[in-house]
Amino acid sequence: MGRWVEIERTWHDTALTNCALCGRLVPRRMWQVEIDGQALPFCNEECEGLYRSYWLPKYGKSGPHPRLASPPTPSPAAAGEAEHVPSESAPLAHGDGRGAGGEGS
Ligand SMILES: [Zn+2]
Repeated sequence: MGRWVEIERTWHDTALTNCALCGRLVPRRMWQVEIDGQALPFCNEECEGLYRSYWLPKYGKSGPHPRLASPPTPSPAAAGEAEHVPSESAPLAHGDGRGAGGEGS
């Protein structure tokens, strides 16, 4: 059976733990279950149960990872802490250079 594991990370550690089934971010504690020698993180026992009853029989342990197979879903948790703001200072910095000058000698 699984066990609850406290996720220890510092505030600047950007490594995230996602549920092996639904892909949701596991913020603090993960339900860790060893399946076929592999420790997988889940949100809770419910996800583990789904993984066992749904994913494993359907895809097997060597099948595509649920997270990778599931369609990309925007994570609401990511909103609000945008670190990468696209700079608007240099939108067209790299032109081809030709034609702009029009220097006829
Ligand atoms: Zn989950």
